Amino acid sequence: MAGIYIHIPFCKSRCSYCDFYSSTFLGNREEIISNICEEIKEQKKFFIHNESIKTIYFGGGTPSLLSFKELKTIFNAIEKNFVLDLHEVTLEANPDDLNKEKITEITQLPINRLSIGVQSFNNNNLRLFNRRHSAQQAIDAVKLCQDKELNNISIDLIYGIPSQTIEEWNINLDIAISLKCPHISAYHLTFEDGAKITKQRDKGVIKELNEEESIDLYKLLVQKLKNANILQYEISNFAIPGMESKHNSSYWNETPYLGVGPSAHSYNGKIRKWNISNSRLYLQYRKEKKTYFKLEAIDNNTKYNDFVITSLRTIRGMNLKLLKENFSLKIVNHCLREANRFISTGDMTINDEYLALSDNGIFKSDFIMENLLWVE
Ligand code: SF4
Repeated sequence: MAGIYIHIPFCKSRCSYCDFYSSTFLGNREEIISNICEEIKEQKKFFIHNESIKTIYFGGGTPSLLSFKELKTIFNAIEKNFVLDLHEVTLEANPDDLNKEKITEITQLPINRLSIGVQSFNNNNLRLFNRRHSAQQAIDAVKLCQDKELNNISIDLIYGIPSQTIEEWNINLDIAISLKCPHISAYHLTFEDGAKITKQRDKGVIKELNEEESIDLYKLLVQKLKNANILQYEISNFAIPGMESKHNSSYWNETPYLGVGPSAHSYNGKIRKWNISNSRLYLQYRKEKKTYFKLEAIDNNTKYNDFVITSLRTIRGMNLKLLKENFSLKIVNHCLREANRFISTGDMTINDEYLALSDNGIFKSDFIMENLLWVE
C-alpha cells in the first residue's frame, strides 16, 4: 500500500503564520497542473514493489482553489498510471472556497475527506492570521458540507496565539466539538523564520505566550476532546476512534508515498526526494530537463532517525519489537540508554511493547527526540 501527495502551490493571499510553500501568483496555474500530471506519469515506477495507492492527499497551498476540471485532470493522470485501491482521498480546503456549488463538485469526485483550515473560531485571531474568512463562514462551511453528506471532515485549529486566554480557547473547543467533525488537528502556533507574525513578535507588537500558559491550553485541549470521545493519537491529531487520518498515519508508519508538485516530498523505503520549493524554477527546470529535486539514499542510521521522529509523534509510541528487529544492537542500546534518562524524569513511559512520550514529555518532544537520534 502507498500514498500520493499532490502539492497545489497557490494561495489567494498569505497567512501571517504560514511557512508552507505557496505563491499568490496564479498566472502559471495551467502549466503547473499539466506538469503535475506529467510528473505523475514519469514517477509511475517510483514505488519499489509497485504498491497500489491507498490514499491520496491534495495539500498546499490551497487545493480548494482548483476547479472541478483541474481536479479531474489530476485524478485521471493518477488512475492512468497507478493501481488504485483507494481508502481515503483528502482535499485541504479553505472555508471561503466552500460554497454549495463547490461542495457539489467535490462530491462528484473520488474525494471522501475534507481537511478544512478553520484555524480559530475567534475573529480577532483570524484577523491577526490574515485569514480570508470569518468564524461564522467557517461554521457555515462545515455545515454546508454536512448537509451534502460530506461528513468525513477534519478541522485545523491553532492555539497558543498571543493574548489567547484559557476562556477563549475553551469557547473555540466548544464550537469545534459542537460541529461533530470526526477529526481535529490542533497545532501550537510556531513562530517560523520569515513569517509575518514572527516579525510582529520581534518588533514587540504581539507577545508570545509563556510555557506555562501553553501547557494549560494543551491540557484543556486533550481533556475536552477526550471527554467528547475525540482521542489524541498523535501529538497534534485527534479523532473519534476509527476516523484517524489514514494518509498522515502512513507517514508515521513509514508507508511509501509519492509527492508531486513544487516542494512535495517523496519516500519509497530506499530514497527520499524533495522537489524544489519554487514554482517558477520547478517549471523552468522541468522544461529544460534539468533536475528539479534532491535525492537522498536512506542508510540504516537515517532509517533509525526517521523511525524515532515518526514513531514518537504517535501517542502509542515506538514499537520496541520493530526497533530490535530492524536496527543493530549498538543503535538499540543507544536508544534505550537515552530513553532511560527520560523515563527516570517522567518524560517518557515504557512497557513491554512501546516506548512513548509522557504528557509532560510531549512538551519537550524536540529535545527528547534529538537525544535519541543517532549521530555518527
Ligand atoms: S495557511 Fe494555507 S491558505 Fe494560508 S498561506 Fe499557508 S498554505 Fe496558504
